[in-house]
Amino acid sequence: MGPLVNVGLLIVGGGPAGSFLSREVTLSEVTLVDKKRVNYGPVICGEMMPKAELLRGHIPDELMDLIEYTLHRSIRKEVVVNDIRRMRIMIRVNGEVIDLGTVSFPAYIVDKGLMIRRIIEEVDSRGVKVKFSSTVTGCIRHGGGFKCRLISKSGEEFVETRLLAGADGYPSIVNDLVGNQPLDPMDTAIATSQRATGWVGDQDEAVVIMDPALAPGGYAWIFPRGDGSSNIGLGVRGYDAWVRGINPVNLHLKFLKAFNLTPTQRSILMKTIPVGELGISVEGGGAFLLGDAAGTVVSTNGAGINTAMVSGLILAKALRDGLNYTAEVRRVLGAFLSEVKRLRALADPILEDEGMLVRLTRLMPRETLRWVINEAMLASVNPMLRVMARLLLSLIGSHRG
Ligand SMILES: Cc1cc2nc3c(=O)[nH]c(=O)nc-3n(C[C@H](O)[C@H](O)[C@H](O)COP(=O)(O)OP(=O)(O)OC[C@H]3O[C@@H](n4cnc5c(N)ncnc54)[C@H](O)[C@@H]3O)c2cc1C
Repeated sequence: MGPLVNVGLLIVGGGPAGSFLSREVTLSEVTLVDKKRVNYGPVICGEMMPKAELLRGHIPDELMDLIEYTLHRSIRKEVVVNDIRRMRIMIRVNGEVIDLGTVSFPAYIVDKGLMIRRIIEEVDSRGVKVKFSSTVTGCIRHGGGFKCRLISKSGEEFVETRLLAGADGYPSIVNDLVGNQPLDPMDTAIATSQRATGWVGDQDEAVVIMDPALAPGGYAWIFPRGDGSSNIGLGVRGYDAWVRGINPVNLHLKFLKAFNLTPTQRSILMKTIPVGELGISVEGGGAFLLGDAAGTVVSTNGAGINTAMVSGLILAKALRDGLNYTAEVRRVLGAFLSEVKRLRALADPILEDEGMLVRLTRLMPRETLRWVINEAMLASVNPMLRVMARLLLSLIGSHRG
């Protein structure tokens, strides 16, 4: 058996959730472990983070305050690679692109790897023990706490810990320990990620493309990095990939071709993200889930960096002030995510069915379509959005052909 280490809190995963938890937590003897190399790569992400001015007024105030805090703590000049001002919304049906025009959309494109590295350097200097290139292969309950097995270049190691935080994305190695359930495939998405050149649009304009044939249950995106290259990718609902057998890589290749994009990286990177709501259980007997592992991604747009950080902030506060993490995270974040998921579920038939999208484009003025998609991209909880979505669905449902 490898060496044994005793700690107070073991955080599995140093992404936005785990790194932010380690930054905010006030406990002593904290260890942060990540299987990635210390320079935090490769990153599988669009790397877009909306600015506070864009979100405020669209999402609940308490959550907004926490998001703003995470932005203040993580966004520095050096991590911003591009400033986005607008979002161009496109619909693509039967291979034909319908340009719905742009909406104001102030956002950052960040160097996510650098952003996380800076947070980790900060926590490292404050006494958190950081172990990169170390994979946690399993954890069990042990003597009132937990025992986890780690594998790194130096071999096998065991860590005994009083508290355990699963910030390792979906599905988490900590899932079973908190009694969480695997997600319904409709509540997951497989998202592809690559860098590419060839996009000739404005560099301060992000582009989203709704096309049920290219990105069933999701959308495709082009996020310019300001240097002529873009972060590009698409999201395919888990249901389409696993139940219908659609291969996201094939769709990604079609996307490159359709938009004349040339990859600058050889690999197409992919990851599963949750696009539902908070898991059934996010805590149990000293183990916690946060970030993607807990289901904190905003289901209408797939954004999860800020909400992952917010869950880290909430857990740090709960541990510091003796609050119930489950109650806090459900109150501040869970209720909002459930509301957004209800909206996503209303839009699902359109995102999955090209025929429905065709009928929608025939019946609805472009301004209305643009408004609805923009509100969804903002994860707005505007009640008008739900009314509008129902109206659209009943209209396209009753105008077949
Ligand atoms: C293609 C794609 C594009 C996206 N684009 C955006 C975007 O533009 N904007 C946005 O806000 N969100 C975006 N998201 C979502 C966002 O990336 C995630 O929601 C966010 O990173 C979640 O943070 P996290 O810390 O919970 O998990 P992660 O970022 O997944 O971090 C988990 C960490 O745990 C580590 N890990 C996993 N298992 C182990 C293990 N067994 N042992 C040790 N370490 C482990 C991993 O190496 C990783 O560093 C995108 C997601 C994808 C897949």
